[in-house]
Amino acid sequence: MVSKLMLTFLFFHLISTVVLALNLNTIHGNISINPSDIKRASLDFGNMRHVESLAVLYPNSAHDIVELVQMCYQSEKAFPISPKGIGHSFYGQSQVADGVVIDMTGTKVSLQERKEPVQGSTGSYVDVWGGDMWLNVLNWTMTYGLAPKSWTNYLYVTVGGTLSNAGVGGQSFIHGPQISNVYELDVVTGKGELKTCSKEENSELFYGVLGGLGQFGIITRARIALEPAPESVVLIHLSYIDFSKFTKDIEYLISLHEKPTSERFDCVHGSVFLDQEGVTYVLEVVKYFDKSTKDIIRQEIVDVLLEKLDFIPSSVTSASLTYFDFLNQLSQTEIMHLGQTGIWDAPHPWVTLLVPKSKIADFDKGVFKGILGSNSNGRIVINPLNKNKWDLRTSVIIPNEEMFYAVLLLRSAIDTGEGTKAALEFIINQNHEILKFCKENELEVKEYLGHRETQEEWIEHYGDKWDLIQKRKMEFDPKHILGTGHHIFQSVSVLHGGERVTLTQ
Ligand SMILES: Cc1cc2nc3c(=O)[nH]c(=O)nc-3n(C[C@H](O)[C@H](O)[C@H](O)COP(=O)(O)OP(=O)(O)OC[C@H]3O[C@@H](n4cnc5c(N)ncnc54)[C@H](O)[C@@H]3O)c2cc1C
Repeated sequence: MVSKLMLTFLFFHLISTVVLALNLNTIHGNISINPSDIKRASLDFGNMRHVESLAVLYPNSAHDIVELVQMCYQSEKAFPISPKGIGHSFYGQSQVADGVVIDMTGTKVSLQERKEPVQGSTGSYVDVWGGDMWLNVLNWTMTYGLAPKSWTNYLYVTVGGTLSNAGVGGQSFIHGPQISNVYELDVVTGKGELKTCSKEENSELFYGVLGGLGQFGIITRARIALEPAPESVVLIHLSYIDFSKFTKDIEYLISLHEKPTSERFDCVHGSVFLDQEGVTYVLEVVKYFDKSTKDIIRQEIVDVLLEKLDFIPSSVTSASLTYFDFLNQLSQTEIMHLGQTGIWDAPHPWVTLLVPKSKIADFDKGVFKGILGSNSNGRIVINPLNKNKWDLRTSVIIPNEEMFYAVLLLRSAIDTGEGTKAALEFIINQNHEILKFCKENELEVKEYLGHRETQEEWIEHYGDKWDLIQKRKMEFDPKHILGTGHHIFQSVSVLHGGERVTLTQ
């Protein structure tokens, strides 16, 4: 397909003179201005914003990306460039107006870059292409009996896509988010330089890019920490009506994060269900095992771990799964649920809030039992997190408390008779109400995966870290070429009457 998309000289000429004022015909990767490619690049899971680029690059290697960014950086009329993974953002973050989207997901380049796992001095790792999907990374490493340590609740997202945010899930309380489980990166900066970075080498770039919302560089390779892949898991669900018992148990379980594996669960997260009867909280706990561990031993270990918890005794359900099915079942059930109910294509004004432990009861009262009423319009997931598993030198922003919760409000705007627009407006208004409630009640909540329209809002989000973010931008992307879909920094040039005009800063 890609070869069909190769531009003819005429197309390049058109783009270079009229649109980008650059000689893109010298780029070796496949550049497309095919309307269907441009349309695809303007879509994301959120399905609320559709900004069309002028072209899409399908790179064959990191060097194709270097070429494009270098050409852009060296031009007087730099244009915006945005890497795109699967496009599972919600608010058009990987889209770009009047510029080029880089489709990072090409399987050809993924396969070229994927190497066998290595046993290093600090542990096992694997080098993967930045556009590789986590599901494929799991499949690949499992053939060597290994697996990444930290996961998102959903595997159909790319390595670069989650590392530019954080990547949180049920294992984060032990291992930290995915950005805490990376040894090294190759990054193409906004100046078009391909740099290897780690805690020791080019460390400012390394920390900048992790959680950096694609502002400082494009991740082309990531060295991911691995552990021996568990062979099977026991998955247990426990229900609660009393929120304080639910959070007390969660907080106890995650306080065991440094204990030997036999004395703690390996994955902990919760869900919240709302209906006319009230609110039910469900805790999911998971224990990893070797295949050789006998059922009776598994049961004994799990029973001891459950002993101290205060759930509704009759609510316990338990199942055994392979490790792969366990990690993927969350994806499968999500896809099946969303697909079967036609929700997949609906707008998804999803919001994830990081709520400090000391404020979670207020959040429960004001949001779960207050603003949301008896209908959540989708799923609510809770991931408990420990601050000491996050590296504060990265660009990510988290609450200033030892423990906090990621509350994922995964809601879809479904037409229930009054039209999709009305349904979307209803959820968006509720989202605003929730944020207003948090602000007015000083819950010190931080938004994760969120969007903002103005730099002022970003300055407020970053707080004390804003100076560092600005400094990193100046150093690694001084022409504001990258990540314009987030509206943190204004693009340095715009198209005006078919001409690219440079703005004064
Ligand atoms: C069903 C579903 C479940 C989810 N569950 C979780 C969860 O459990 N935990 C969690 O943390 N998140 C979760 N997310 C959010 C998801 O991790 C992010 O939206 C992520 O960015 C999606 O990755 P992507 O590959 O689709 O990236 P895209 O949406 O394509 O891009 C996201 C951002 O990353 C940038 N980017 C993409 N590739 C690169 C790269 N190679 N280098 C630098 N920047 C890059 C883009 O420019 C953009 O700013 C979920 C999303 C969905 C739709």
